[in-house]
Amino acid sequence: MKWKIIGKILILDNDYDDLSKSHLESLRDKFHVKSIVKIDHIEGSLREPKTEILLGDSTETIHKENGCYFKLDLSKVMWAKGNTNERMRIAKLVKDDEVVMDMFAGIGYFSIPIGVHANPRKVYSIELNPNSYEFLKTNIELNKINQKAGYEKMVPILGDCRFEAPKYKADRILMGYVKITHEFLPAAIGSLNPGGIIHYHETVPEKLMYTRPVDRIKEAAGDREVNVLDFTKVKKYSPGVMHIVVDAQIE
Ligand code: SAM
Repeated sequence: MKWKIIGKILILDNDYDDLSKSHLESLRDKFHVKSIVKIDHIEGSLREPKTEILLGDSTETIHKENGCYFKLDLSKVMWAKGNTNERMRIAKLVKDDEVVMDMFAGIGYFSIPIGVHANPRKVYSIELNPNSYEFLKTNIELNKINQKAGYEKMVPILGDCRFEAPKYKADRILMGYVKITHEFLPAAIGSLNPGGIIHYHETVPEKLMYTRPVDRIKEAAGDREVNVLDFTKVKKYSPGVMHIVVDAQIE
């Protein structure tokens, strides 16, 4: 039985067997959590979890990671635990006074660490799911990002990044999505300042991971020069499929 703890909630993976109430209660006391849930799967373009409460009555919690606080409701939004290192890697790359765009912000998985650990001038955090967007706003306040800056440094935007991105220009654009991220490359590159950097996530068959993502970036960049700066394997996404990130500077 595999499990993970998010905030004060113990999540059992979906191959757990039927545990008795007393076994669940002993797990709750052992891990000092308030609820125990099972997440069957994540579905749809909004990446919504299908959650079942096994013990306790709440799926809302505050999770702390890398000195950042994330309020979330596990029955409404997912928690991508596998991306922890990547979230900090990006936060450390952000230079002072940069303008950053987070195209698939979620509850602020990448935006919040950038706001807490880096010193950008502005972060446009775009999110389509109204539930995630509400938590994104909460998490900007919870981490006091705009309060400490003394201005609206981090701007939460509810909408489809295809239509929102063209309203802004950025020096660094995060494309943390899966399966169809390439469809958003034209919007991203259209918003990227000359010499800016995109962090392009792709879930890709292992045999194509060193070619298809970069080819797609170059195709979307047209006559703008593409320099690949880095290539990161984030995690195994599914059998034979990797979640990778290409850092590319586009002139
Ligand atoms: N970028 C974060 C990360 O990598 O950890 C979140 C990843 S999560 C898989 C993708 C997020 O993108 C979800 O919160 C989903 O609602 C949002 N999303 C999906 N389509 C979108 C779109 N067209 N515009 C903005 N957000 C979108």
